[in-house]
Parts: sequence; structure tokens; C-alpha cells
Amino acid sequence: MSFVRFENVSLAYTDDGPRAIEDVNLDVREGEFVAVVGPSGCGKSTLMKLVSGLRLPNDGYVYVNGRQVGGPLNLVGMAFQAANLLPWRTTLQNVMLPMEIVEPYRSELRSHRAEFEQRARAQLAAVGLAGCEDKFPWELSGGMQQRASICRALIHKPRLLMLDEPFGALDAFTREELWCMLRDLWQTQPFTVILVTHDLREAVFLADTVYVMSARPGRILVRREIDLARP
Ligand code: ADP
Ligand code: ADP
Repeated sequence: MSFVRFENVSLAYTDDGPRAIEDVNLDVREGEFVAVVGPSGCGKSTLMKLVSGLRLPNDGYVYVNGRQVGGPLNLVGMAFQAANLLPWRTTLQNVMLPMEIVEPYRSELRSHRAEFEQRARAQLAAVGLAGCEDKFPWELSGGMQQRASICRALIHKPRLLMLDEPFGALDAFTREELWCMLRDLWQTQPFTVILVTHDLREAVFLADTVYVMSARPGRILVRREIDLARP
């Protein structure tokens, strides 16, 4: 039973424009860690938009959790290359943001604020940011900002975490630290991951299954299950 499924999906951004992705098939099980690799412009971000319902396909079908995607989904958490933390909010306030937006948290926030805040603190500790709750984004390093961004993406317990080049702006050492952090999170919390990256090493290090895309139009070239004895 697949959790995310693409059936022959194509998307062009304009009526007479080229297709950003063409005839893409994907099959992601619940709890799986999937990476999609390919060169810049091959349609990786387009794929993310289709999963989250920010775009609908021209052809084919996108299913998440057994339903055809028809609009933005609440069961998705997202993080991007830029951490996009709001500069006027502390780390804790940034992490709490989805609880102010996503139902049912939004309507329960007033009566459950202490409990939700406690959860945010625990999630911050899980990404190695205990003690940073009251710091502002400019007081955090790039790696710490990205940890906070992933923390924010997970705070409403989404079943699907989508990561678009989340470590692309980090130095090699920090990047590998965050790989380990992400893998630890994924091993202890029950969510499915779709990671898009142009870094094949990153894909192989992290994912159960790697899809390789070609450029223009984006097509899936290869699907490989990674079966390495991991440290
Ligand atoms: P990647 O994430 O792999 O770099 P994208 O999904 O961003 O690739 O882009 C795939 C193709 O679609 C590219 O040719 C890009 O120029 C085009 N594209 C992306 N977003 C838009 C948009 N909003 N309007 C028109 N074309 C777009
Ligand atoms: P909080 O709820 O944590 O007090 P908000 O994110 O609601 O903070 O922001 C409080 C107010 O500050 C909002 O009305 C927002 O419009 C304003 N604000 C502060 N700085 C900015 C900024 N850089 N860009 C846009 N709005 C800002």
C-alpha cells in the first residue's frame, strides 16, 4: 500500500510551455525515506509542489494517503534550502508557527498552549537546540537555523516530511552533522520523508530508495533501493 503515488504525472507551468516533468511514476511506502536526485532544473521542486498540492498535474494522478491530491495538504511538513525563519520571532516562536496555522492545533492553541509549548521544547531538544529557545534567528549558525527549520516542519506531527535541498547552503562538515541528525529523527519518529537534492552522496547516505531524474523534461531514469549496512 503506497503512501505517496504518482501515476504518469506531467506538468507544464504554462499552456503552451515545455513540460517541467513528464510521465513520472513514484511509489512511496509509509515510513520510507525516499530521495530524488537530479541536476538543477530537472523538476525536483515541481515534484514537491505536486505532492503538497500547491500544483495540480496536467496529466496523470497524484495520490497521498490513498486520496487524489486536490489542494494544499495539512499532513505535510516542509523545509527548504533557506531556513526561512521569521527574524522577529525567537526560535521557539518560529517552531510554534505551524500550531498557529494548521488545524486542529490552531483552534486548540488557546487552551493547550502550555502543552504545545512543551512539545516544541522537546522537539527542539531532539534536533540539538536545547537552550536556543529564546534566541533569535540571527543568533544561530546556519546549521542551527536549518535544525530549527526542520523542527518547525515536524512540530504538527506531519505524516510526510518534504525536504527541498535542505542542506545545500551548509559547509560539508555541518551538512554531515545534519544528515545524522535527520536520520536519528527519522528512526525515532514515525514519518515518511521525500528529500530532493542534487547531491548523490547525500541521497545514498540517507535514503532507502533513490530516484534519479533526467533534465528537460524531468523524467525518472532509475529507481534504486539502497541496501547498505548503516553505521
Ligand atoms: P529543480 O527543483 O530540479 O531545480 P524545478 O522543479 O524548479 O527544478 O524546475 C523544473 C523546470 O520547470 C525548470 O525548467 C524551470 O525553469 C521550470 N519552472 C519551475 N517553476 C516554474 C514556474 N513557476 N513557472 C514556469 N516555469 C517554471
Ligand atoms: P508574535 O505573534 O510572536 O508577537 P508576529 O509574527 O505576530 O509576532 O508579529 C507581530 C507583528 O509584527 C505583526 O503584526 C507583524 O506584522 C509585525 N512585524 C514585525 N516585523 C515584521 C517584518 N519584518 N515584516 C513583517 N511584519 C513584521
